[in-house]
Amino acid sequence: MKDLDIALVLVDFDDTLVDTAPRFLGARRKLFERLGALGFEHARSHVVHHQEIDPPMRRLHGFGPSRLEHSFRETYRALCAEMGVEEQPEVVTELEALGRAVAGTPPLLGGALDALARLARALPTVLFTQSGDPDYQLGCVRAAGVTDILGAERIRVCGEKTAASFREALEHFGVADPALAWMVGNSMRADVNPALAVGANAILVDVQEPWEWDNVEPIAPDFVRAGSFSDAVDYLLNGARRG
Ligand SMILES: [Mg+2]
Repeated sequence: MKDLDIALVLVDFDDTLVDTAPRFLGARRKLFERLGALGFEHARSHVVHHQEIDPPMRRLHGFGPSRLEHSFRETYRALCAEMGVEEQPEVVTELEALGRAVAGTPPLLGGALDALARLARALPTVLFTQSGDPDYQLGCVRAAGVTDILGAERIRVCGEKTAASFREALEHFGVADPALAWMVGNSMRADVNPALAVGANAILVDVQEPWEWDNVEPIAPDFVRAGSFSDAVDYLLNGARRG
């Protein structure tokens, strides 16, 4: 493998270092089961939740579990309105509670923290994560042990990862040439594509059950795939030469 000139490695948090998705998935499964038991058609519930309700709820409440109580409740309300069914207040309360139960610090993925420490010893490394609730997200990052490794000044939370917010992060950390930066994360949409869009490099860390929202096509073919965050770190360290 050729040597890599690396000025900065940006590492994602949710589902790259910590296991966030299973709790979201588990809560959504319960939501759809409950809606099914109430007589709503499964396929329609999916479309209403994923396409019609959750996107505006993300814009209103941001990423992270705080939106789920609103997103779950409004999915039910939208289905009731569509089917001409009267809302049941106890179902509203139940679904809000189901959404709220997802909050809390997610568990670390195996080997992730050791790999992050290895990476940070060898190369300039920062955390780049998105959340509509920065204080909540910083609390999770700290509780996971990431702040102890990187230091608070190397953690950046943006509202939503886009090409523009990626470029801002590079500027913030003093990287003039995007070609010397690497983004490592589990999301094609939020990690790989914004990096490729501004001329940076990207490693996609595979996850078992990707979130529907993350499933988009890559905007360019030249990114690296890794089976885990630790594998991604090996890739960078084996070929790394400081830029
Ligand atoms: Mg992620």
